[in-house]
Amino acid sequence: MVSRGWGDCSPSNPKNRRLRSSVFVSDKGTDILIDSGPDLREQLLSAGIRNIDAVLYTHLHADHTDGVNELREINRLTQEAIPIYGDTATIDSIYTRFDYAFKDIDLSKEALYHVILQKNIINPYINFKVKDIEIKPFSQNHCFMDTLGFRMGDFAYSTDAVDLDEKAFEVLKGVKVWLVGCLSLNPHPSHAGLEKVLEWAKIVNPEQIYLTHMSIGMDYDTLCQMLPTNIRPAYDGMVIDI
Ligand SMILES: [Zn+2]
Repeated sequence: MVSRGWGDCSPSNPKNRRLRSSVFVSDKGTDILIDSGPDLREQLLSAGIRNIDAVLYTHLHADHTDGVNELREINRLTQEAIPIYGDTATIDSIYTRFDYAFKDIDLSKEALYHVILQKNIINPYINFKVKDIEIKPFSQNHCFMDTLGFRMGDFAYSTDAVDLDEKAFEVLKGVKVWLVGCLSLNPHPSHAGLEKVLEWAKIVNPEQIYLTHMSIGMDYDTLCQMLPTNIRPAYDGMVIDI
């Protein structure tokens, strides 16, 4: 952190250097990005991502949305608008802050100079499809607001949540791999801490949990030593095959 440095994280382990949370899901030619944080350019470059069929947003907070402009390079490659999906508050916020991204460009007359997005409002518990991938959004309590978690087949992603209810657990039932935001070892008002994630692990009981959205109290090696092998810290660039 700019303000507090490495905290308990060892600077010598490259897995402790973390960009803002984001996930790229690719299955049989369908490519979905979840969240476009301020580090998106670096993430697209290092993962070699050149196509995105849709962007799903968990919520409107800046660390999950402010990389919208970096999607422009994907527009340049595909020469098409990128559909974005989020709840009303998130889409309204992106529309207000990046209004130019929703203005049409006549590609036959002018060069592609700004990001082009196409908005889609989604609601928790109303499933939808991006090409062949069915997405099941569920609601999560993030203290300030509700966020969306997403399940796709045997994978689910839950970040920026401090509480989950029965309806969310119902969607998560039977999931094999669950990527979960876990900010710290201690409880936090708006994010799950480790104790909360361990409680959830007992309820959902997936084959594997990976922790993401970790702060400076979460050293990679320390976590590996203290946690069972079916709960591991994730790291930037990690690839999970399901
Ligand atoms: Zn947030």
